[in-house]
Amino acid sequence: SSFPSPLPAGGESGLSENAMWLLDQRYFARRYDSVSGTIRKEASFGEFARRVARIVASAETAYLGGSASDLEWLRRLENSIYDDITNRRFLFNSPCLFGAGAGMTVDPGLSGRIYCPPEEMTFEDYDLLRRSRTRSQQLFACFVIDVPDSIDGIFDGVKDAAVISKYGGGVGGNFGHLRERGSAINGGIGGQASGPVSFMETWNTMGAVVVQGGRRRAALMGMLFDDHPDIFDFIDAKVEEGKLPYFNISVCVSDKLMKEAEGGGDFSLVSRSDGKTVRRVKAADLWNKLCESAWKRGDPGIFFIDRANDDNLLKLGETWKIESTNPCGEQPLPNYTSCNLGSVNVEAFVTTSPDGRKSFDFSAFVDQVFRSMYYLDLVIDACSYPLERIEERTKKIRPVGLGIMGLADAAILLGMRYGSPRFSEFCKCLGDSMGSAALCAAAGIVSDMGKDPFPEAGLIEDLFSEFAREQGEELFPESWYGRLDREGFRSLLEKMRSSATIPYTLSNALEGFFTAQGLGNEGARLELAGNVLLAFTKGKIRNSRRLSVAPTGSISMLIDTSAGIEPNFAWSWTRRIARADGEGQETREFCHKLLSPGQVDELHEKGKPSDPVFVTAYDIPPDEHVEVTGIFARVVDSGISKTVNLPSGATVDEVKQIYRRCYAMGAKGITIYRDGSRSFQPIETAKKP
Ligand code: UDP
Repeated sequence: SSFPSPLPAGGESGLSENAMWLLDQRYFARRYDSVSGTIRKEASFGEFARRVARIVASAETAYLGGSASDLEWLRRLENSIYDDITNRRFLFNSPCLFGAGAGMTVDPGLSGRIYCPPEEMTFEDYDLLRRSRTRSQQLFACFVIDVPDSIDGIFDGVKDAAVISKYGGGVGGNFGHLRERGSAINGGIGGQASGPVSFMETWNTMGAVVVQGGRRRAALMGMLFDDHPDIFDFIDAKVEEGKLPYFNISVCVSDKLMKEAEGGGDFSLVSRSDGKTVRRVKAADLWNKLCESAWKRGDPGIFFIDRANDDNLLKLGETWKIESTNPCGEQPLPNYTSCNLGSVNVEAFVTTSPDGRKSFDFSAFVDQVFRSMYYLDLVIDACSYPLERIEERTKKIRPVGLGIMGLADAAILLGMRYGSPRFSEFCKCLGDSMGSAALCAAAGIVSDMGKDPFPEAGLIEDLFSEFAREQGEELFPESWYGRLDREGFRSLLEKMRSSATIPYTLSNALEGFFTAQGLGNEGARLELAGNVLLAFTKGKIRNSRRLSVAPTGSISMLIDTSAGIEPNFAWSWTRRIARADGEGQETREFCHKLLSPGQVDELHEKGKPSDPVFVTAYDIPPDEHVEVTGIFARVVDSGISKTVNLPSGATVDEVKQIYRRCYAMGAKGITIYRDGSRSFQPIETAKKP
């Protein structure tokens, strides 16, 4: 039995056997087949892509009226998503790939509509798909909730985290509002509090029993403020082998700690029950302990929380303050909000000229960034949220997290060594183009596509009013931006940069218009920049967050490319897969797709290919890892998932320097991993299997 679908079969997709294995194991949807009356699993990359594209596109019907041109638009949109997926240019985060159309099995008419050829789709079909979404159509990877200091609050939080995990989301929370261990309960007559670390166990136990959407294990992030009295316990929370296995943990490092640790000052640990200082420690001792722990074991991670709040477009709204990220750290979010991610595969934009020369197609890349932002914005409407409160708050701020993957493989194709000066130059260009294009999209969805700004966008307008006041103006007149020439724009950017009011990645991304490739000549780029800036000053912006570089641990494997902005980890790996004759399993070796047969021989003989562009994470000096992180941190307003690999002989001082440099470069966090140290990452990110 087969779906009524003329789409290409898996073998024609150009995906490797490895990727097809992953698709088959984890991503192909099972549903009721109206033709045969049986349960059937998707069988090709095409079917899979069609389902995802169609479900996301159907969300657009809420904004359309049903005319012939509306139907035309829907079909174009669906085909555009489909082509971007099947050509390996873009992929949504895993929950979206799992969740699109999930549960639509009962009505036999529906499963036909998910897979029929696009030319058979009517406007009503799309609209029916939109209205038929089930509770299982949860499409987001990232959630943050709060953990209030009461038994009710704590256990409501565990329940919410369980529901989110059940529907496939990763969830983070800051346990730093809980009163410290040993402090009084019930005004002193109720005994002593057991402290945040003990309550993290409740989340962990939940994690052990809830399997995300039946497909992956729960992923939790636990954070603590650096001035919490239990901070030392927290840093050691995972020291004991097997402790809190479902958690990544991170310390929220404040600007104050960074400053005092450098200056040799003291640092107060403040009680959560009465706000008084319970203990003064040497800031350098706390900092030392943190760095030593990361050096020894790879955890806790570090979250530069003040950076995240400085860079938050919503910072004038108390309820949108940021206290935690999602589990892998790429998405700082206000409590009880969520974000969906998607990643552009930069490798797919390397083109070959007739004479064999490789180059990067910046204008196609920019178009992809623009389109992808539009897709991710639609996912906000297509999603069934696990909790009403999260739906309500997420829709008020409409955050999206677009990132990239395939960077290391693009570098190999372009003949650059990851980490080299030429590579850094390339990353800088990519960052500028991506940053500028994402701004254009967030403004363009409002100005050109006629959609409303996100409901809380007035907060951006307020930011700019405040900035104008700082500059001694009531408000910048609208005509002012239009008049900006090169020099005028430069000097305005200077002012924006030196003001603490304007988020730094916004200023940096605006500056990117000067050099961004793929956005036309300088005149055109300046005009775009002026329009974008004007849209921001008036709050005419669709999304409160734009860019986020995810680990892409699974989706990069799914389209055979290197993960996120990470270098490659290995040139070959083994995996047990089903034998071709269907008789059980066999262990097979897979080699990196960019190795020529000669290089595969070389790999087997010498352990690595001799061509210097084939570098792995450990061949790259820590400084170069940091450099790459810093370059993207300039424009990525959410976070970046990136590990700095260190040789086993690295010192704690080197770890400190790495953190300092990342902080200075505007990164909101960083993971370090020293070769041979124990790493107890609950989620294997960016590692080839
Ligand atoms: N995540 C999760 N469970 C997992 C892996 C990831 O909940 O097993 C969440 C987590 O919030 C993480 C985000 O998904 O930060 C993105 O991870 P990644 O990019 O690796 O996911 P992919 O889309 O490639 O599956």
